Amino acid sequence: MTLLLGCIADDFTGATDLANNLVRAGMRVVQSIGVPAGPVDEGVDAVVVALKSRTIAPSDAIAQSLQALQWLQAQGANGRAPQIYFKYCSTFDSTPQGNIGPVTDALMDALGCGFTIATPAFPDNQRTVFKGHLFVGDVLLSDSGMRNHPLTPMTDANLVRVLQAQTRRKVGLIDHVAVAQGEAAIRARIAALQAEGVGMAIVDAVSNNDLLRLGPALAGMPLVTAGSGVAIGLPANFGIQPTAQAAALPTATGLQAVVSGSCSVATNAQVAHFIASGRPALALEPLRIAAGEDEAGKALAWARQHIASGPVLIYSTAESSAVKAVQGRLGVEQAGALVEQTIAAIARGLVEMGVRQLVVAGGETSGACVQALGIEQMRIGPQIDPGVPWCHAASPLAPQGLHLTLKSGNFGTTDFFTKAFGALQRA
Ligand code: ADP
Repeated sequence: MTLLLGCIADDFTGATDLANNLVRAGMRVVQSIGVPAGPVDEGVDAVVVALKSRTIAPSDAIAQSLQALQWLQAQGANGRAPQIYFKYCSTFDSTPQGNIGPVTDALMDALGCGFTIATPAFPDNQRTVFKGHLFVGDVLLSDSGMRNHPLTPMTDANLVRVLQAQTRRKVGLIDHVAVAQGEAAIRARIAALQAEGVGMAIVDAVSNNDLLRLGPALAGMPLVTAGSGVAIGLPANFGIQPTAQAAALPTATGLQAVVSGSCSVATNAQVAHFIASGRPALALEPLRIAAGEDEAGKALAWARQHIASGPVLIYSTAESSAVKAVQGRLGVEQAGALVEQTIAAIARGLVEMGVRQLVVAGGETSGACVQALGIEQMRIGPQIDPGVPWCHAASPLAPQGLHLTLKSGNFGTTDFFTKAFGALQRA
């Protein structure tokens, strides 16, 4: 395999988001859950290694990222090392301790790289950077909900300052004046910054056109650090153009099911829509799970009766008042873990039953299901909604593979659970 782009993502759904952008720009992409233990699919242009390193101790994040780097570098061929892409959140989630700065420093040291960029800009998702300041929608990052984030509160929108607090290298800015002029001006700005001793530079970008102008200036840079937005401009550097072929997956077979452990507003509407469309749906009762009843066994028996005629939905999705009541009785973590384990067991049972097209709603829920299914890597296919592609993965329970899509909480249109199956090519 000649890997062109090797990506290290600091969380699971962020990895899928990046992979999805690369596929849409024409690359064939595999996402691996953690550093791959064995080889990946031969014919791919990019591998996205999904870590869970966003909020762990900086030393652990560095160790895991370097391990991923080593694996990715070993996939280059003909003396050509892949370009490395360190992906973080489009709200630059981090603390003064890290992990964006420390991981970037470690990757630069390992690559012997004197300069890199940093920009979380993702205009399609309302994340723009201007004069080094990050906007979420119409407000500065520090005025957005991110200021109250429980783990990574973001109280400063000036990313030059935020990143400078996390790195020993000097941080600079490639501002919009350069970005608006395109490759030559951006390269000139980079040269000027390097002459001033700058090692990392925040890049302004307020539109996809800015990101597409930035792309060519990043050709040959050993390390790029960014949200998923910058990915739209990189495949062209390798002569790759958008093509539907990049998203081609095997044709879909088998039974169809949806499991949902997400209680986000969008998911509640999606569950309601599925039920209103007259399809079979079964609600799980967390308190009965806590009481030791075999909710998974009962759900699977119910599914067996309904699944032959089309997709079934099994969900713990509930309105926030109901979730709070359950959390009050069981504790937040205990309730979450119990429900995740039950849904993961149901996902396993469904695949054993012959489900080969599985929709999973919920970020944490997806992690639990992927683990229960023994999935180590996924080929990324066509987008259903922004940030949510169909994937194809091998599992010990389905050696020929199954199609699955992992929808994080607030993604997807209201009819997502029904329309998703229509987006797959069937045998
Ligand atoms: P999202 O992507 O919407 O945040 P997650 O799966 O990441 O969804 O998180 C939802 C969490 O809520 C999970 O830990 C899940 O187990 C838990 N959960 C799901 N349903 C319920 C419920 N009815 N009561 C309490 N907790 C629930």
